[in-house]
Amino acid sequence: MKVLAILYQGGEAATNEPRLLGTVENKLGIQQWLESQGHEFIVSSSKEGPDSDFQKHIVDAEILITTPFHPGYLTRELMEKAKNLKICITAGVGSDHIDLDAAVDHNIQVLEVSGSNVVSVAEHVMMSILLLVRNFVPAHEMIERGDWQVSEIARNAFDLEGKVVGTLGAGRIGYRVLQRLQPFNCKELLYYDYAPLPAAAAESVGARRVEDLKEFVSQCDLVTVNCPLHEGTRGLINADLLKHFKKGAWIVNTARGAICDKDALAAALASGHINGYAGDVWNVQPAPKDHIWRTMKNHLGGGNGMVPHYSGTTLDAQARYANGTKAILENYLQSRPQEPQNIIVGDGRYESKAYGQR
Ligand code: NAD
Repeated sequence: MKVLAILYQGGEAATNEPRLLGTVENKLGIQQWLESQGHEFIVSSSKEGPDSDFQKHIVDAEILITTPFHPGYLTRELMEKAKNLKICITAGVGSDHIDLDAAVDHNIQVLEVSGSNVVSVAEHVMMSILLLVRNFVPAHEMIERGDWQVSEIARNAFDLEGKVVGTLGAGRIGYRVLQRLQPFNCKELLYYDYAPLPAAAAESVGARRVEDLKEFVSQCDLVTVNCPLHEGTRGLINADLLKHFKKGAWIVNTARGAICDKDALAAALASGHINGYAGDVWNVQPAPKDHIWRTMKNHLGGGNGMVPHYSGTTLDAQARYANGTKAILENYLQSRPQEPQNIIVGDGRYESKAYGQR
């Protein structure tokens, strides 16, 4: 059986750190195991264009393993060429780089290692919330420059206590963020999600559901985005919606870059309407060198907490999603049923309710 994995290049770091399992070098720790059973295992980071390893090997691979951190974009057109492809496994969480509607049409299963990195991301969200609200990045840059001007930083530094914080999407990550926000004594915790939380779960974190999106964003001092990217969320935070955000609001997005309109967001930040934006996800990955989100700033020269896509690929998370990928492979190879929570697209239909309402 031919198994193709598109992973990120780990370079020297991966040679020196074997726990970087999600890299081309360390191959999710499954190379020996797969090859000892007689399977062919191709691993590469080359994913763009007709000469890429991805496009070359997808034509006869039966199993495709991809990762959201270095997404191999599996389009409908590529699926049409992938005559043997039966199953796509996302080593991580978030399968928007795969055309899920096309997977349904082509009877290709799509599975994720659900839950594998949700704590990792929720912790990153908490860090990003604090670094924006407290104006951390410009403060650190000032120190590195050798300067010391407290007022320059303090004029845009606040406490999280007393603020209204809302999560757009209250699934595994969104809910964990709400849990972690509790001890900060926010004024109110809100959520917007077409799937309401069970009453006991909402009550236990003290979160109120707001059913209208504009109403939701207009009430929040800070919005954290925790929903998947699908046709209902692509470009959801656009120029029109941004007008409904409170002036001076912060946005943290570790879900997917394309949920926010790149240029509308940068403009809202520059104008001061949005005070800060932080996250690790980009509309194209790797982000081009001149991507405006790398350098965009608020009207005071701060408000940018962007990093490369790594919140869900801590070493702890890599151990979990590598194990989870192997478990999915084992089930597939031994024709055993998959864990229901991991199935995004099953036999010709969506099994997950998180990728849009249908
Ligand atoms: P989940 O399936 O547990 O929860 C997603 C929630 O979003 C669900 O409750 C769903 O109903 C809700 N939702 C879907 N569409 C919505 C919409 N239009 N408006 C409001 N809510 C909507 O998923 P999760 O484990 O919490 O992960 C969420 C997303 O986070 C993933 O799909 C992925 O894109 C992203 N993620 C990022 C990283 C990272 O490293 N940055 C890692 C893991 C996951």
